[in-house]
Amino acid sequence: MKFGYNETCLEHDTGPRHPETADRLRAIREGLKKRHSVEYVDVDPATEQEVARVHDDQYVQDVKEFCAAGGGNWDPDTVAGEKTWDAALASAGLSQWAANAALDGNDGRDTPFALGRPPGHHAVVDDAMGFCFFNNAAVAAQTVIEEGAAERVAIFDWDVHHGNGTQDIFYDRGDVLYASIHEDGLYPGTGELDETGEGDGELATFNVPLSAGSGDADYLYVVESGLGPVFESFDADLLVVSAGFDAHRYDPISRMRVSTEGYALLTDAVRTLAEENDAALSFVLEGGYGLDTLSEGVATVHETFDGRRPMEPEEDADEETKELVAELLDRYGLDST
Ligand code: ZN
Repeated sequence: MKFGYNETCLEHDTGPRHPETADRLRAIREGLKKRHSVEYVDVDPATEQEVARVHDDQYVQDVKEFCAAGGGNWDPDTVAGEKTWDAALASAGLSQWAANAALDGNDGRDTPFALGRPPGHHAVVDDAMGFCFFNNAAVAAQTVIEEGAAERVAIFDWDVHHGNGTQDIFYDRGDVLYASIHEDGLYPGTGELDETGEGDGELATFNVPLSAGSGDADYLYVVESGLGPVFESFDADLLVVSAGFDAHRYDPISRMRVSTEGYALLTDAVRTLAEENDAALSFVLEGGYGLDTLSEGVATVHETFDGRRPMEPEEDADEETKELVAELLDRYGLDST
């Protein structure tokens, strides 16, 4: 893969007891050292104007001033330091780069992955939350649409948390599909089945809240049997994966049971979706808080593009998962494939 990287992202300092630290990026880089054909691309930060494409101008200025004054706790979870402003712009820039690189034809072994932090998917139009300041995936989607590189963009979020921010930003938009699989009841508590979009965006939001304990077979089933038909009917030019690795069975903050191999299966499944629907494909880092599972997860995505074939799960998806998908497809007026 081509990994977009910017050293500035290491300088977002969240203090000594926070799960979202610069060590996450260091662990990913260390894990990738052992793999073949890893390519890094230095990427410029986004501009204030670019992040303001999806955020209120006043909010963007508030973040700038908050950081310039030394930062602190924006809320109990979301911490900024003086350098967070620069890191947040760098992180958004990486996501924009990945989307543009994918639309420029980078696929297969050249598929782009934005390795930035702070993460983005909880950041709403006018507020930071859940460790996120600017919504990186949303900035990327909006940028390629405004600049004419794509007309329709789908964002698939496999982070264990619901990306309320991404959903919020595009909730009434028909040209950006937001689809999420997340642990039911976990932070931030949004992402119910019946949150399907509104106005022009009706049925362009697709939420699959899975029960705690769901694993590889459940995730794979949702992507192939649920997201598959939704994605096909949407006809996106670009698929952006909001790739968190906190649904891993050994991640400290969730109760899901996705294995490292599960991320290979998910990667293979989204690659197939993109290929079959003639869409470009890019990845953006979201969460993932076990340093080993995070670095193995990213390395597994890389290896899958490097030619490694994933192993099918031994068990079948739960009946509950199948029923959930059937109910959703019915709601969207789609048949299962
Ligand atoms: Zn997460």
